[in-house]
Order: sequence, then structure tokens, then C-alpha cells
Amino acid sequence: MKRVLLKLSGEALAGDKKTGFDEATCMGVARQVKQLVDQGIQVAVVTGGGNFWRGRTSETIDRAKADQIGMLATVMNCIYVSDIFRHVGMQTEIFTPFACSTFTALFSKDAALAALEQGKVIFFAGGTGHPYFSTDTGAVLRAVEIEADAMLLAKAIDGIYDSDPKVNPQAEKYEEISIQEVIDRKLAAVDLAASILCMENKMPMLVFGLNEENSIANTISGKFTGTKVTV
Ligand code: UDP
Repeated sequence: MKRVLLKLSGEALAGDKKTGFDEATCMGVARQVKQLVDQGIQVAVVTGGGNFWRGRTSETIDRAKADQIGMLATVMNCIYVSDIFRHVGMQTEIFTPFACSTFTALFSKDAALAALEQGKVIFFAGGTGHPYFSTDTGAVLRAVEIEADAMLLAKAIDGIYDSDPKVNPQAEKYEEISIQEVIDRKLAAVDLAASILCMENKMPMLVFGLNEENSIANTISGKFTGTKVTV
């Protein structure tokens, strides 16, 4: 793989704290991503926002407004994670689909590819820029736009299971599954809009646990133990 998009869920960034950032977790992510960058792999990152806010957090305020708060949460996450990446020696740039003054650059495919060519790790904050979407969908969209070889989906859980392992201790993890099956079985790995975008654009996914040791680096090295989603 020459170019990958790494999706980090907000929950995974929070580690055991469940909310906000867990610096040790984010430093661990940074060190692993540096291994990929040092191997010459181009890396783009999308973070979720669930460690601060999700559109469905409030049943009171207007959904479109609630989603705006969620998108801004992903901007905060990207500013934080990108600076941790800089701390371990990487160059970074953050792109958003809406203007955030000098905090980020406006997304365009050309600008994103130019930054990758310069050896920067790029961050796509702010999701799609539209309410009623998720960062999973934003991540697939950007992965397709920058012509990534695969999307690496780092989650709080270590792969895709046939049922929720928190509820069913007998739940079994898939080593490999097609995106069509993920859709047909309504597996909660990624939302439907993201799954369909993946299928239509033939974007393979590697789903794994962020808390497993070296899991990001392992997706590239062949020691992958999560679930491969084929298209
Ligand atoms: N969001 C949105 N449009 C997008 C992406 C995200 O409105 O294109 C909002 C939505 O409210 C969502 C929140 O941002 O709940 C945080 O994203 P997500 O729930 O995907 O984060 P994760 O669960 O991966 O931490």
C-alpha cells in the first residue's frame, strides 16, 4: 500500500477515559503512524468526534445544529492529534470542507495530494461539512477522492463480529467479510451510507482495535489480526 486513509473514532482517542483525549493513546497512534511515514507510505487521517459530541447527543436542539457541533468536535480532535504527530517528528496539515480562518486549510483534492507529496500527514476535519452524515462517510468520501489504496478503520473494538461481543460473549470475529455481507447482515462496523460508498467505489477496509499493540503498523506489515472488508 502506498497511500492509506486512517479513520480514528473519537471514542478510541479518549482511551479508558471515554471522553476528551487520552494523551498516551494519541502518542501511541503518532509513533505507529510515523513508522508508516518512514516507510514512505502516504497517510491521511480522519478523526471522529464522539469523544466530545455526536449529533444525536441532544434530543432537544435542532439536528442540523447538533451536527455542526459534532463537526466542530472533529476539528478540535484534528488540531490536537495533528500537534501530537508534530511532537513525534511528522509534518502535518489539516483540511476542512468549511473555512475555519487560519486554523485549517480549505479542502481541495489538489491541495491534499500536494501536501501528501511533500511528505505531510494530512488530516480531514469537519466530516463532509454537512449534517446527517457521519465521519465514517466523510472518511470513505475522502479516501475515494484522494485515491487511497485502503481505508484503515481503527476502533475501540478489534474487528467486525457477527453480533455485539459486549452483549453476546459467544460473538465471533470475522477474519474477512465482503462489504455486501456487512450491509446485508446490518453489522454495526460502519454506517450504511459509508458502506454503500465503499461498495460503489471499491474501497477496501481494514477494521481493527486501536488498543491492540502495534495494530496500525500491523495493518501494513502482514501481521494484521482485525477484519478485512473486501469489495
Ligand atoms: N458529523 C456531521 N457530518 C459529517 C460528519 C460528522 O454532521 O459529515 C457530526 C455528527 O453530528 C456526528 C459527529 O459529527 O455525530 C461526530 O462524528 P461521528 O459520530 O462520526 O464520530 P465518531 O463516532 O467516529 O467518534
